[in-house]
Amino acid sequence: MNAYLASVLENVKTKHGNEPEFVQTVEEVLSSLEPVIEKHPEYEKVDLLGRMVEPERMFTFRVVWCDDNGQWHTNRGWRCQFNGAIGPYKGGLRFQKNVYEGIIKFLGFEQTFKNSLTGLPIGGAKGGSDFDPAGKSDAEVMRFCQSFMTALYRYIGPDVDVPAGDMGVGGREIGYLYGQYRRLKGVWENGVLTGKGLSYGGSLARKEATGYGLCYFTDNMLRANGRSFDGATVVISGSGNVAIYACEKATQLGARVVAMSDSAGYVYDPAGIDLDLVKQLKEVERRRIREYAERHPGAEYHEGCRDIWSIPCDIALPCATQNEINEASAKLLVQNGCCAVAEGANMPSTPEAIAVYRAAGLLFAPAKAANAGGVATSALEMSQNSMRFSWSFEEVDNRLRHIMTDLYHNAANAAEAYGMPGDLAAGANIAGFLKVGDAMLAYGVV
Ligand code: NDP
Repeated sequence: MNAYLASVLENVKTKHGNEPEFVQTVEEVLSSLEPVIEKHPEYEKVDLLGRMVEPERMFTFRVVWCDDNGQWHTNRGWRCQFNGAIGPYKGGLRFQKNVYEGIIKFLGFEQTFKNSLTGLPIGGAKGGSDFDPAGKSDAEVMRFCQSFMTALYRYIGPDVDVPAGDMGVGGREIGYLYGQYRRLKGVWENGVLTGKGLSYGGSLARKEATGYGLCYFTDNMLRANGRSFDGATVVISGSGNVAIYACEKATQLGARVVAMSDSAGYVYDPAGIDLDLVKQLKEVERRRIREYAERHPGAEYHEGCRDIWSIPCDIALPCATQNEINEASAKLLVQNGCCAVAEGANMPSTPEAIAVYRAAGLLFAPAKAANAGGVATSALEMSQNSMRFSWSFEEVDNRLRHIMTDLYHNAANAAEAYGMPGDLAAGANIAGFLKVGDAMLAYGVV
């Protein structure tokens, strides 16, 4: 890293020392930008990187709600509008008890580059709350969402900032959030949120998009290297939205998925995961993955999630959460013959794990590029909302497949152009940066 980039990073470490996830993602991005800064001194001249690591603005708000027993609770909500240089702010909401400012900033920074990479006109944002939806009734989740939106609605809009789901925020929550937005604003502006139900402006294939897109991207990467999903053994962490549809598409492409997990443990099913059962447990009944083994003879349940990476596989798709693969897990994957890791979750590999993949020559698809299919399809949902028109599942899925293929080539070409052929992580950072950076330069002082 040259002196300029090192000084930007030092500044971030000083200011955000208590936000390790944010520092980690900034370091990862800056570490690939040296050749860009060398080639384009105009960026350093106006301290473009110094600006890019600072969110444009961030709101913190109180969210008060009442549980079914009449007891009052106070949570904290956030929305970080990280960078709006190339379009309205866009990024999901995460409801999880460990959410704090550092997580929201890390996700907002990542989102800025990811959204740019899709080639669509969307800026980067993220939001959420330290509310834990686990074990709450529908009525409690509804009251929480209504209170959350009552605080948030004045800062968002179809041309301003368009939230979507993330961990803990699925179709049910988006419905409650949009219902409250409509009640407060008194207008039909369904382009204000994406991930909506089909009856009020959602897009076909949005639910599937992140997992499908991950597999489309990975398929491009595998094929460029003489491999494919066909006949491969795959391990997928998580059993939420991304994991379920990654499992579906990987299976359609000929792979056998043998393991999935949740935050308590994982199931190993050597015959291949029965996805209908996972959907029933997770999407319908909201149960634990443990019950898969209780209902499915031949499957094993293991307490704790980290050991899922000790299962031999050809392709690993981490689709649960940040930093879920550490150095030791990465070494196990390599020892057991894994040839590719593609990230469905945001930042699921620690820097040490990525160093292990690189040293062993694994194919590596970074989250920023590989999981961009969700937000890309959210942008397609926004387009359909603006046109007041709906495309068929096939139309959206086709567009998604093309976007993921273009995205793969953009990342691969940028890596090549800046002297790091095959390094998709560097290529994704560079290609994502250039578009946002050029827009910011064009605006002058922003
Ligand atoms: P969900 O809430 O639908 O699912 C998350 C899954 O991860 C659940 O199975 C959850 O288990 C598990 N999990 C949560 N915490 C841990 C942990 N500490 N260790 C192991 N497993 C854990 O979220 P999504 O599928 O939407 O998101 C998953 C990841 O993908 C996140 O990193 C998100 O930011 C990213 N992503 C999501 C997109 C989307 O469109 N949904 C788009 C792009 C990225 P449990 O049920 O026990 O909590």
